[in-house]
Amino acid sequence: MPLRIDGKVISAQIKEELKEKVTDLKVSRGISICLAVIQVGNDPASSVYVGNKKKACAYIGIDSRSYELAQETTQEDLLQLIDELNHDEKVDGILVQLPLPGQIDEDTVIRAIDPAKDVDGFHPQSVGALCIGQPGFVSCTPAGIIQLLKRSGIQIAGKECVVVGRSNIVGKPMALLLLRENATVTVAHSKTEKLQEVTRRADILVVAVGKPKMITREYVKEGAVVIDVGIHRNEAGKLCGDVDYEDVAPVCSAITPVPGGVGPMTIAMLMNNCVEAGIAGN
Ligand code: NDP
Repeated sequence: MPLRIDGKVISAQIKEELKEKVTDLKVSRGISICLAVIQVGNDPASSVYVGNKKKACAYIGIDSRSYELAQETTQEDLLQLIDELNHDEKVDGILVQLPLPGQIDEDTVIRAIDPAKDVDGFHPQSVGALCIGQPGFVSCTPAGIIQLLKRSGIQIAGKECVVVGRSNIVGKPMALLLLRENATVTVAHSKTEKLQEVTRRADILVVAVGKPKMITREYVKEGAVVIDVGIHRNEAGKLCGDVDYEDVAPVCSAITPVPGGVGPMTIAMLMNNCVEAGIAGN
């Protein structure tokens, strides 16, 4: 049987380490860390994500400030709030929950956040810093995947890695992080020809396509490590990923389940970015 990479256990470890760090910062240096969370409208999925982020903050000892804005909020009003938070010395991190209503341009909003407080790692300056190997905040889901691999004792350097998907929040930063870890990286996408031939080269296969159970064993080399970023809910309300777990598990050496694999790591890494922002800003 393959190693089942347990994101619940690893994210819990990271949260414990952060909790200790935050307590120590408070006690020894009098530093309190504060995350401002902005939600526009009341999309139920966004409310769940925001609630989970606030819960994680409370557990670790990070103060969270909540801004719940009406669905019809104008871009100008949102930018005004971000500007105030950028200048608020008590605020270390700013998170704007996506997606935003249609009247607001997400790129403009992301660019308005001070890169020093960009704990989601979406600002072009943060992405550029990652690209040229300089310090900066890294998008939380791919950063979490690197932690899953490292903490499971999986070597990345020198390995052939294939990332399926090239979104700005998962695929592209994932490829850059793997490159930073000295892997040989291929990025595949919807126009890639002979996808199975490409994915079968991978020692480490990261899948972020947003298509339920698309990756079956025909896409996987014997003994590969398979990381499934996808999250989908079927008609019966059951969660599944982009990888057909039951089909792929027997041929790989390690695999992340859905749920309980990559998902829990995203919030843990957001908390990590908040702590880093707090340390850098004090
Ligand atoms: P996007 O829809 O933004 O990107 C999907 C990518 O997959 C695109 O680059 C697309 O290519 C590529 N793709 C689509 N179909 C195919 C195909 N048939 N063959 C090869 N490539 C294909 O998705 P995200 O990156 O935002 O998310 C991916 C999945 O991960 C989703 O299920 C999402 O819910 C989940 N997710 C999970 C998170 C977590 O915390 N666990 C966080 C973020 C996302 P092209 O660019 O050519 O269109």
